[in-house]
Amino acid sequence: MSKRILLIEDEPGLVLTLTHRLASEGYEVTTSRDGQSGFDMARAETFDLILLDVMLPGKNGFDVCRDLRQQNVQTPVLMLTARGQVVDRVVGLKLGADDYLTKPFEMIELLARIEALLRRAPASGACADSFQFGLIRVDFRKAELRRDGEPVELSAREFQLLRYFIEHRGAALSREELLNDVWGYQSMVTTRTVDVHVAWLRQKIEQSPRHPQYILTVHGIGYKFTG
Ligand code: CA
Repeated sequence: MSKRILLIEDEPGLVLTLTHRLASEGYEVTTSRDGQSGFDMARAETFDLILLDVMLPGKNGFDVCRDLRQQNVQTPVLMLTARGQVVDRVVGLKLGADDYLTKPFEMIELLARIEALLRRAPASGACADSFQFGLIRVDFRKAELRRDGEPVELSAREFQLLRYFIEHRGAALSREELLNDVWGYQSMVTTRTVDVHVAWLRQKIEQSPRHPQYILTVHGIGYKFTG
């Protein structure tokens, strides 16, 4: 699965160049032209990396970075600072940025920094101890799920199922596969059990369980997690 990069930058020329180049390197790029919408996107979706300009309309890059960290969004942030503004780097790193690059930069340098940060970070979702999507934050080590900060009770099986979904984010999973991998072979359990547990899980994580946003039904197959 290709790595997802969120580019928060207001300079049209740079957005175009970066989007094009990153896409040609196999990254999936989402762009935002101002601080507030970039912040909202970074909270609502899962990215592997955020490229964050400092001078942005509305909310500046420093504020975006600080607020993301306060919201416990731990996506690696590479800040793009203006030339020679040493103070930018220091402030940026203090506010939780992982690295910075001074404009103008060589594309090869940017790509190297991106690769380094992605190597350092755990793959989004898979094997991570915690995972966030929308208002939901799940901590697998502590077996805790919070919805908009409020704890939600999950059974051990529901945790296993959610973890499996997260680790297979974006893939269509058949009921049989879920049954085998999450429940293991048990004679008493049928694929109906999968549907029941998915329904329970939806009650707990979906804003509107009847119109799920995260655990989607794939007709004729099973389910797909899109958080
Ligand atoms: Ca700018």
